[in-house]
Amino acid sequence: MSDFSADYHIHSSVSPDSKESYEGIFQAAEERGLSEIMITEHYEFFPRDYHSRFFGEGYMEDYEKRFREAVAKYRGSLRIGFGIEFGQSNEDPEKAEKILEAFDFDYVIGSCHKIDNIDLSQYDYKIIDKEALLDRYLKELYRIAEAGLYDCLGHLDLPKRYAKRQGLELAISPEDERLERILRCVIRQGKGIEINTSGMRQGLSECLPSPGILKKYAALGGRIVTVGSDAHRAVDVAADLETAKSYMRTAGLEYITCYRNRKPEMIML
Ligand SMILES: [Zn+2]
Ligand SMILES: [Zn+2]
Repeated sequence: MSDFSADYHIHSSVSPDSKESYEGIFQAAEERGLSEIMITEHYEFFPRDYHSRFFGEGYMEDYEKRFREAVAKYRGSLRIGFGIEFGQSNEDPEKAEKILEAFDFDYVIGSCHKIDNIDLSQYDYKIIDKEALLDRYLKELYRIAEAGLYDCLGHLDLPKRYAKRQGLELAISPEDERLERILRCVIRQGKGIEINTSGMRQGLSECLPSPGILKKYAALGGRIVTVGSDAHRAVDVAADLETAKSYMRTAGLEYITCYRNRKPEMIML
């Protein structure tokens, strides 16, 4: 067993839903003995006629500037990567491609946070047709996978996290054919998935994806897996990474993946 430990999904106050500083994140990561962290601020895509309040002109430049300044000031031994979490990159693939060309990312997460411009956290799961929403979600995620503008897909079975907040279950079965189509697409493209531990601290008592989905991914031949907390506060950096690693061992996955300049490197678990 190696002592390599990395958190590959972290947000700071650059993202609209966090107030955390880079200094706070770096310090927390060091205290928890991590070897490496990947900063993955949000960038959300919308239909072209939609004007976003947060992700407008200068957002990416501001992110890069703040990131590079914080890293330049940092004196510790952590390896710190420059990443991004794309939400709904399928909404505007040309813009996504431009951003990928303009910035030297180490790692890109592909996520689906919104259906019809509404964040999945905002739906009333007691009222809506949950299965219909799940179907839309899986279709959007497939489009994101197919477009290939990412390195790993983020929090695969995300709707369960928000349904659970309202006391409801909305799991995706490992045997779901729509899910299998997504996983096969990821594998075919040489991309990967993340294990996102946020569910462990948000009432789910499991990560995203579930252990069953991770097993399915491994059974289909999937080998590229990153592990991230999805921390929006320093206190959550490195949270439950061991749980994610135990999922990997159970699924027979022996390597954890990290990225430099968007190239995967496999490190023995
Ligand atoms: Zn996300
Ligand atoms: Zn995130």
